[in-house]
Amino acid sequence: MNNIINNISNLKKQIPKTVKLVAVSKTKPNEDILEAYNAGHKIFGENKIQDLVKKYEELPKDIKWHMIGHVQTNKVKYIAPFVSLIHAVDSFKLLSVINKEAIKNNRIINCLIQIHIAEEETKFGCTLDEAREILKLRFENKLTNIQLIGVMGMSTFTSDMEQIRNEFKGLKKIYTILKNEFFKEQDSFKEISIGMSGDFQIAIEEGSTMVRVGSLIFGSRY
Ligand SMILES: *Cc1c(COP(=O)(O)O)cnc(C)c1O
Repeated sequence: MNNIINNISNLKKQIPKTVKLVAVSKTKPNEDILEAYNAGHKIFGENKIQDLVKKYEELPKDIKWHMIGHVQTNKVKYIAPFVSLIHAVDSFKLLSVINKEAIKNNRIINCLIQIHIAEEETKFGCTLDEAREILKLRFENKLTNIQLIGVMGMSTFTSDMEQIRNEFKGLKKIYTILKNEFFKEQDSFKEISIGMSGDFQIAIEEGSTMVRVGSLIFGSRY
């Protein structure tokens, strides 16, 4: 069963070296993750805290685990000891809880601000003004143990590729505004996490630095 390894190597041929590949392993068993791991892939994404913690405990410790799903504040403590990047921060409250838990673990935790770019109302994320408010509070409150390294977005679930492209363009604009207003001097604010199995190529054309790909690597989820 070399599918996973082949899928990753095919994907890597289509992704510039500067773009990070987060292999989204949600719902998939450890053996699938190990197959990718043993072939040299180290960055994996999960969207549920409970699954993320379980897989962290069971799998090699040099895996970089990305939390790509919505995070409830009361669950931050479970992932704070090890999480490598939290993609979906969309409130100041969440950010300050992450900071508190990071302090307890004597770590700096990297975070992205999730921006709402899709037309569906069900998807999480904030508007430009909400992101500005989070960042204003972030700098007023000197959260010492978090580092904001960019933005994340999810496009509308549609086959209309022009719509998806426009949503990605919109996110890039928001990123640039936030970068200019809050992070002019900080090179670390540089990530744009967009692009999944169905739209990663468009995402890369529109400035993605980090794609989150699941089904193209591990097969569809049922
Ligand atoms: C599931 C998921 C992905 C990957 O989706 P695929 O279409 O399987 O590539 C990416 N990002 C988030 C936030 C997800 O929940």
